Parts: sequence; structure tokens; C-alpha cells
Amino acid sequence: MNTCYLCNEPMIDRKAYELNPESFHEKPKFIHGEHVIQDSLYGRLKSDKILCESCGSQLSVEVDSDFGKIFQSISEQFAHILTSTEKNKNFQPSLKGHVVLMDGRKIPVFIKGGIINPQKPFFDLPVNGEVKVYGESKTAKNFINFAKSELKKQGYEVEKLKFTIVSNLQDHIELGIHFSEGVEDFDRKLKMGFIKIATGFAMMNGVDRNDTPNTIDVKENALIYTDQIVPYIPCEVFEMVYDQQRIALEPEFPNHTLILYVDDYGDQKKLICYVDLFSTFAFYVVLNDNYKGKDVHSVYQQSITKMEKPEINIMNQSPKKLLIVEQFLKIGSEETKGMTLDERFSFVQKRYNQFTVSYEMDLTDSIEAVASKIAMHVAAKKMGKLDLLNMVEREMMESLPDLKVEDLMLIREEYLRMKREDPEKIYRQSHIGFHGKELYLKSNYYNILERQNSDMESIRRYTHMKFNLLNYFIQNHKDSLND
Ligand SMILES: [Zn+2]
Repeated sequence: MNTCYLCNEPMIDRKAYELNPESFHEKPKFIHGEHVIQDSLYGRLKSDKILCESCGSQLSVEVDSDFGKIFQSISEQFAHILTSTEKNKNFQPSLKGHVVLMDGRKIPVFIKGGIINPQKPFFDLPVNGEVKVYGESKTAKNFINFAKSELKKQGYEVEKLKFTIVSNLQDHIELGIHFSEGVEDFDRKLKMGFIKIATGFAMMNGVDRNDTPNTIDVKENALIYTDQIVPYIPCEVFEMVYDQQRIALEPEFPNHTLILYVDDYGDQKKLICYVDLFSTFAFYVVLNDNYKGKDVHSVYQQSITKMEKPEINIMNQSPKKLLIVEQFLKIGSEETKGMTLDERFSFVQKRYNQFTVSYEMDLTDSIEAVASKIAMHVAAKKMGKLDLLNMVEREMMESLPDLKVEDLMLIREEYLRMKREDPEKIYRQSHIGFHGKELYLKSNYYNILERQNSDMESIRRYTHMKFNLLNYFIQNHKDSLND
């Protein structure tokens, strides 16, 4: 029988209880399907083995609610291209927050349809005869008259000034968006969401609740905060190229990725879960600093954007094409062995009827596809043949700094390692580096940990870049929908 990782009580089926409630001394804990990645983030992975119904709702209030609010600003920007969630009807409209402009001013804003609007219009003093008026376009137009009269009072010749409306603050923001309003203690609440995902994923993969002391207090039966959580940044050139071009490279961008693994590069083994949301926000959560449990390795990747079941008229296919349909439906040759053609057709038809679209992706397939593309793109750039690439790929490659011989060697080595070994056990876990002329393997976690204290500037720049990529995707998707 499965036990709940929080209250540590066995969980039973509610129906079994209701059939025979007298046989229970007290009301038991009920089995409940818990979203490992929050439903509000379009998470698809569920497990009925990790949390009982009451602990599930407790954590939903304590953790998921604020976490969902933080991501609401992102998800709502592309809600129309995302799959529906079970509860997305509860989504509130626009989200309020504040941004810090390049000149340091803090401005209250709201986000609606991907546009960052100031809550109230305002204007700058004239610079080279130009006055910038900030505000949602209609409001700002009316506000120009107010700005004119104010400037007149201050002695400006307003007839000679040019007034420009700035509706979207996106390009004027220095530090990105700080959604502290409505979400107090932002950093902690953000991290608690990642901690819950990491813990849930470990539990559903058979890790004992006693083996994640950083995130579960087994005495208090509580999910706890840990500061052993570090943001991901690329560790070497292969990862840098990968991450800068993720939109162009990943078969399904954006996606959610989880990797549970044991890092054996330090004095003690660490049990770590890498959590990557919207291909943009990624953290390593260390569940145990001195892990002595069984060796675990588990991955999960899911797409977020809507997928549809392909329409195939089975009975109209030629026998040759039927073979392809069988592969698509993952029907093994042993399953249809000895069947007549008619029997095979009806067998495939039955399986097609049962087929549902899966959001789950194969991480190995994803990584291999990306690695080959990187090798090809880098070669194209090197040979000056970028015109072979599609527009997005070309833009991304052009924005990449020129690669040195050493970089190209590392990319090649990393590519070969992915081919040679299991890429799921490499990706985001370890990387190759140069030590003088020697190649060495290094843990991503330890590398980032070292840089976290010394290299804040590149972490900050990287975070900006990631946010811009996601924005780029959202904007381009909108454009293609409007065409
Ligand atoms: Zn429980």
C-alpha cells in the first residue's frame, strides 16, 4: 500500500471506504491524483502514489497557489496557444506588479496580452525636443494634453516638442519584472514551488521520504524550504549554444523537463532534481547532501503547446502505409504476427481509436535532435552558409559570438559523448571542460555553485536572455496567429 510522503499514512481508495465505512476505526487518508508539476503551469504529470487527498489540498494552499500566481503572468501571455488546464477557468485577468526602468525609476504596471503597460500614464521631460509619454495607447493619447499643459507651466515651448507614446515598457525595463505585489516573499515562494516539484518527482520514482531531508521534515511531517537550490546557467560552450538557440532547436518549445539523479562528483553523493519550466526557469534542488539510498535516475519531459490527434483513415491505407501507421501507434511486429491482412487492419483501427495524444516527450530523442542541429548550425556558421538555415535559426546563429577553435573542439567532444553514452545521463548533469590541454568531466551543479558566489553578473545577464527568448517566442507566435 502506498503511503503519503507528508503525513506518512497509508492511502486507500475513497470508494472502498464508502462501501464499508464501519470497518474503519477512523477516517483513513484517501488516494488522490497529485499534479507533480502544477496544473496551473499546464503540468501533465500526475501520481496517485505521493500525497493523500488532504495533504494534497494543504500543499495546494501553502505552495501551489502563490507559485501559480507568479507564473500566471507568463502563462497568460500565451494562454491561447497553450493546452487547457483542468482549472484555468479560475485564472484572474491581468496581473499587477512593478518594473524598474533603466534610469532606476520604479513604475507600477499591469500585464495584459503580453504587453507590459504602466498602471498610470506618465511622461519624461523633453530630451532633444522629444517627450516620451508612457501609457496604454488610448489613455496616453489623452494624457498628451495634460503633459503639454504641465510642460507649458514649466516654461517649455510645447508647440516645438514632439510627443511619442510608449505603450509597451518591454524595451525600457532594466531589471526584468518583479512581481512582488500580491506575492510577498517572492523568492521563497518561487523556490518552494520548485522544491515541491522536485520532492514529488523523487517520491513518485520510489525515493524514501527519509532520503530527502533537505525538503521533508519527517518529524513535523512538513515540506520545508532549503537554500540548497541553485539556478541553472550554461556550464560550457555546448550548453551556451544550446540555450541561446533553444527556440530554434527544441522540437517542442517551450517545455517542462525534470531530471532526478545522483551527483557523484563531490566527497558525498548528492540526490538532485533538476527542474526546468517553460524551457526558461531552471533550478537544481538538492534533496539530500549525503545520499546513501539506491541509485536513481529518472527523467520526464512534456510539451505545453496544444497537440492534436492526427487524422488517419486506417481502412484507406495501402498495406505499406499501414506499416508506417503501426510504427506511429507503436505497434510491435510481434503483436500482429500471424494475422491476415483484414485482421491486421481491424487491429490497427482498434489501436488508433484507443490512441490519445501524449504530451510526454522522449528526452533522448529531444537531446539527440538538438545535438545534431547544433553540430550542423555551427558548421554552417563556420563555412559562412547560414542561408541554409531557416529564419529563426539564422537569427539565433548570427547573434552568437564567434567561436574559437577551442570552443569548436569542445562542441565536438560534447556531441560525440552524447552519441556514445546515454544523453539522459549527461544533459544538465555534467560537462566537458579544458584544463590546459587536457579534457576533463565536471559536474554542472558544482560548477554553478562555484560561480554563484563569484559571477553574479553573468547569472543576471543569462536570466535576462532567457526571459527575452520566451518573450520572442510569445511575440512571434502572436504574429503568426494574426497573419
Ligand atoms: Zn497525507
